[in-house]
Amino acid sequence: MDTSTNQNGQREAPPSTDVNPNEAVLPPYDPNTPIGVEHVKMGYYCRICFLFYSNEDKAKKTHCSSQAHYDKLQKHLEKEQKKKMKTTA
Ligand SMILES: [Zn+2]
Repeated sequence: MDTSTNQNGQREAPPSTDVNPNEAVLPPYDPNTPIGVEHVKMGYYCRICFLFYSNEDKAKKTHCSSQAHYDKLQKHLEKEQKKKMKTTA
C-alpha cells in the first residue's frame, strides 16, 4: 500500500517548515525596542505582567522595553504557541 499521497493525490506538506517553534516568538531582547505594546490595554494596563501605568509613555516605552516584560511576554507567547499546537494537532 502506498501511503505517500493522500486521497486528493496531494502531498501533505510538513507543517513546521515556516514556523520554527523554538524561534516562534521574539526577536532578541533590545532595551531600545518596545515589544508587545499591543498587550498594553486601555489605562495602560499590561496584561502580560499585570502591571498598571497611568502614563502611556511610561507603559509603552519604558515598560515594554524592560527585560522583565520581555521575559514574561516570551513565556506568554510560548504558552500561546503550545495552546495552538494542541488545538491543531
Ligand atoms: Zn508587561
